[in-house]
Amino acid sequence: MNKVVLITGSTSGIGLGIAEAFAKAGYNIMFHGLEADGDTIAKSVGDKYNVKVSFSNANLLVADEVEELIEQTIKVFGGLHVLINNAGIQYVAPIEDFPNNKYENIIAINMNAAFYASKKAWSFMKYQKFGRIINVSSVHGLRASEFKTAYVTAKHGVIGMTKVLALEGAPHNITCNAICPGYVKTPLVEGQIKDQAKAHHMSEEEVVEKVMLKKQAVKQFVSLETIADMALLLAKDTSSTITGTSFALDGGWSAQ
Ligand code: NAD
Repeated sequence: MNKVVLITGSTSGIGLGIAEAFAKAGYNIMFHGLEADGDTIAKSVGDKYNVKVSFSNANLLVADEVEELIEQTIKVFGGLHVLINNAGIQYVAPIEDFPNNKYENIIAINMNAAFYASKKAWSFMKYQKFGRIINVSSVHGLRASEFKTAYVTAKHGVIGMTKVLALEGAPHNITCNAICPGYVKTPLVEGQIKDQAKAHHMSEEEVVEKVMLKKQAVKQFVSLETIADMALLLAKDTSSTITGTSFALDGGWSAQ
């Protein structure tokens, strides 16, 4: 039987890049995201790589919907081997102007949904004696930048959660790790370029050069392939001793 991976937020950006790589490696994929054409995206990847796919648009702001997403995955595919908590949103503003609802939604989607999903998948992974949980955190789970209170808080929180799940999962062959990318050029970052330009009173070109990639030693956006390769490694049977760790794929940002 092909292994099954559920990737939250996989009808866009990093999640879609990871999904393509897992499909190519023969995994069946539960796609998820709010994109209106999510179903079509899922089918086209499934057809291209000849793997089974399904799609859900569960709203991660609602705990019950997160739990149903896990139940639905197990029901449709008869298993769940790899859970990738990837979906996330961003909002950039100085703390004084940071709207409370933006803060709460970022904590809910970027952090709390990973808890609800992992919790729901846990008993099945335990019974299966195999589980790989991969949290897509960020270099902002390791380092701070101004104007990102909610995002930096949530991403640091995810790294703490990763360590706890690694300890609890150890007797059951459930591993949990975090991937911490620097900047990847996805729709989320395209939005940030605009927001940062406003916050810093700069042009979009200046923001990329002087703000976004300023802290990376390697002045390149991190590629989807780099992140997908890391996720594929963490998902392997032979990666059972890699757990509780955060992998910075950040062009040397956190080396400083
Ligand atoms: P993206 O905007 O391209 O994709 C985000 C996905 O999350 C989409 O599929 C969207 O539908 C889904 N989503 C958002 N809110 C949702 C909700 N309420 N319910 C269900 N799904 C929801 O973003 P991306 O850049 O691919 O980011 C993916 C992850 O990688 C995020 O956790 C982000 O914080 C992290 N990350 C991104 C970068 C970067 O530079 N792009 C860097 C480090 C970490």
